[in-house]
Amino acid sequence: MFSKEMNNTFTSKNFVKINLDWSLIQSELKSKLGSEVYESWIRKINLTEEFNNYILLSVPTRFIRDWITSRYLDQILQTIKKHKKEIIRIEFKISDNNEKNIQKSTNFSQKEIIKNVSFLQDSYLQYNRIDPNKRFENFLLGSSNKIAFEASTKVSENFSHYNPLYIYGGVGLGKTHLLNSIGHEMNKNKKVMFISAERFMYQFVKSIKSNDMVKFKEYFRNTDVLIIDDIQFMNGKEAMQEEFFHTFNALLDKGSQIIVSADRPPNKLSRIQERIKSRFSGGLVVEIQKPEYDLRKKIINHKIDELISLYSDKINISEEIQNFISSKINSNVRELIGAINRVISFSRIYNKLPSLAETKIILKDLLNINENNVTIDLIQTIVCRFFKISKNEMLSSRRSRYLVRPRQTAIYLTKILTTKSLPEIGREFSNRDHTTIIHSVKTIEKLKEKDSNMCENISKLKNLILYNKGNEV
Ligand code: ADP
Ligand code: MG
Repeated sequence: MFSKEMNNTFTSKNFVKINLDWSLIQSELKSKLGSEVYESWIRKINLTEEFNNYILLSVPTRFIRDWITSRYLDQILQTIKKHKKEIIRIEFKISDNNEKNIQKSTNFSQKEIIKNVSFLQDSYLQYNRIDPNKRFENFLLGSSNKIAFEASTKVSENFSHYNPLYIYGGVGLGKTHLLNSIGHEMNKNKKVMFISAERFMYQFVKSIKSNDMVKFKEYFRNTDVLIIDDIQFMNGKEAMQEEFFHTFNALLDKGSQIIVSADRPPNKLSRIQERIKSRFSGGLVVEIQKPEYDLRKKIINHKIDELISLYSDKINISEEIQNFISSKINSNVRELIGAINRVISFSRIYNKLPSLAETKIILKDLLNINENNVTIDLIQTIVCRFFKISKNEMLSSRRSRYLVRPRQTAIYLTKILTTKSLPEIGREFSNRDHTTIIHSVKTIEKLKEKDSNMCENISKLKNLILYNKGNEV
């Protein structure tokens, strides 16, 4: 019974029906504000709750909230109003990872529905649009992406040499960038069709419904170059795969070039027919790997140069911070670029460069914080050090005021930063009863609302705990 009560405290208890299609609003904002702004800021916003005349959005950090509020709030509100004119105000909350996880598990089905409905509309914007900003010339090279780059340039010069070309790799590594570059290059003298797999499916289903299959076939079979992004999303029914397979063969027969991207190699595609997979494997299959340190540095330098020429003022991000970012953000080019954008935005708002500690806060959600590193022992140690008490004192049964608050704070932080159950937490705090644990958590929650000092201490402690050890430079 108690644990049920606890759950309520931590989930958004009054989850209200969401009618707005947030993904649709985000894609509208993407086309309005451009993909750079979208990637750095808008993508981070989640719709948390919808009320009669206002909505609650959540963002991962205070910094992102301030930046968005000062720059894009009007446009966001305008866009939302187009869908629901009653909305007159937007409120923000700072989500921490913990809350996000809980929400994910409780509202899974609702989120899933929203996602599935919106990706069709989402991809509509990508439909056969070649982004002129993603070209071979601004694709930076390193050992992790060189092979994919070379295969792509060869394909755009040496028509139909490697056919199909299959590029795979994790998110944010540059697949779409390369596909775009190929499209951009070949579009000069060939008929190019650039489409996401989702859009292909959508188009297919729509054509069946409107009895337009003939047109659909003609449309696709008439192109010289067919580029399909994110083929792993092709999960349609047999009939659709059948059509895809025939389109594919027809194009290969007439010598059209096919280029495909995916997040995994052909043999790992789960819902795709064997014969299609084997067609993919029959061409040239290349991988883009995670960017290595040198490439990360190169991308950072390039991005800084680009921003310097964009804004006339001099932006000088210290070597220390550049090194910090290149060593910590190592899985993904998209996040790397996002990180630089944020650091630069910070220096422009506050008119100073962020310190290393500030950089950690600005990039909190991008840094690899492994919550498994957070142990009860670590939390106790950090909280004791912060309040200048000993661990024995914290774990004792003494109820002096100067011990009670730190103890409750440590219990609260354990509850929100680990996945430990109440009895487990109780055991680690000298076998305290789980009702005591609940009481501590509730006390701190209440205090946080009233007492700004407490709020600040909690946030400092959270940072100390999350960025300790493995995350320390
Ligand atoms: P993917 O499709 O693999 O998820 P994207 O092609 O969308 O990744 O790349 C994410 C972002 O990173 C884009 O803004 C892209 O322009 C940029 N990017 C990726 N790789 C490079 C690179 N080697 N040089 C320059 N920009 C890159
Ligand atoms: Mg992509």
